[in-house]
Amino acid sequence: MDYSRVFEAAIDRLHNENRYRVFADLERIVGRFPQALWRHNGQTKEVTVWCSNDYLGMGHHPDVLKAMTDAATRQGTGAGGTRNISGNNHPLVELEHELADLHGKEAGLVFTSGFVSNDASISTIAKLLPDCLILSDELNHASMIAGIRHSGADKQIFRHNDVRHLEELLKAAGKDRAKLIVFESIYSMDGDVAPLKEIVELAEKYNAMTYLDEVHAVGMYGARGGGISEREGLSHRIDIIEGTLAKSFGTLGGYITGSKVVVDAVRSYAPGFIFTSALPPAIANATVAAIRHLKSSDLERDLQQKNVHMTKDLLKRAGLPVMATETHIIPLFVGNSDLCKKASDRLMEVHGIYIQPINFPTVPRGTERLRVTATPAHGEDLIIHLKDALLEVWQTLDIPYATDFTGQPLKQTA
Ligand SMILES: *Cc1c(COP(=O)(O)O)cnc(C)c1O
Repeated sequence: MDYSRVFEAAIDRLHNENRYRVFADLERIVGRFPQALWRHNGQTKEVTVWCSNDYLGMGHHPDVLKAMTDAATRQGTGAGGTRNISGNNHPLVELEHELADLHGKEAGLVFTSGFVSNDASISTIAKLLPDCLILSDELNHASMIAGIRHSGADKQIFRHNDVRHLEELLKAAGKDRAKLIVFESIYSMDGDVAPLKEIVELAEKYNAMTYLDEVHAVGMYGARGGGISEREGLSHRIDIIEGTLAKSFGTLGGYITGSKVVVDAVRSYAPGFIFTSALPPAIANATVAAIRHLKSSDLERDLQQKNVHMTKDLLKRAGLPVMATETHIIPLFVGNSDLCKKASDRLMEVHGIYIQPINFPTVPRGTERLRVTATPAHGEDLIIHLKDALLEVWQTLDIPYATDFTGQPLKQTA
């Protein structure tokens, strides 16, 4: 057995499909968000980041920075253990209260990432429920799919945001069977929003539990940043609300919130929670500061929405293929992995604009795209620069414009 050859062949397959991933070597600059230094071929260049999930710039907010350095100075760097063995720390306990309050729930539980929170919680909840049937939206994130697989429970996939299909599956399963509906509020690659109210009503009608991933909404939607469920006044009708601390809260970690008993069960049974070290106090403390700030400040949310609208408007009017979306996520349709990668490279090298190409398996083949995120710091000058750069790249690489682009359904254009 030539072991190396197996791995080389695996990597070659990715190269052949133009989906071998290359990471940009970046250094973000506090005080100059969204600028970053990019190291490449022995040179350092300043670039504008247009694909960050630090959606509100909270990772550079002075209160958040101060909370992190204060806690690190007073309490040290690592947590020093798992939650069970010496790693539990006061900022983390506070953080869980803050999160429970954010979603109007009895309890919260923090994990080392959003991925881990979905994997550990979905698998544990579905394992504990006898003969559980999981009903999963077809576009759910990889971390939710991992949780579903690890549960070993039966699963059925409903067509994306299709409540009629969901109802058929619920009806067929019957009222008595344990059922867990697993879905997201904002789908991060298309930027569309789930019909939360209809799903909640179906769950109540057929006596199913609901598990909602609000990763791309927390901090940004709802009067206090509680996500789409807060905006729609539905938080109290959803059993488990999950989120990340690493996107609009600007730090690292993930969480669930829900009733005391469900959260306690996950805390007590999930290996992904039990057998891993706790989040460090500095990260927890910084996150508390970010959440508290966003509970009372609309400034970041308002500026973000303003800049998002300006970006969409300018790019659309320039004829660029902006995919229809109601949220802060602005996907630009390319539809070809080679072109998508080339466009991204050219934006970076010629224009100093960083937008990572989104290729299979993150999105279906033939729907490759550039995913643009405007934050409160992406003002008019940066938006005009982006529009001009994109037009140059579209022209040079001969990428299709929006003229024949209808938004839905996506079609292969190259
Ligand atoms: C990013 C993401 C996660 C994972 O969160 P991390 O904190 O980055 O691990 C979970 N769900 C969705 C929908 C995501 O986009």
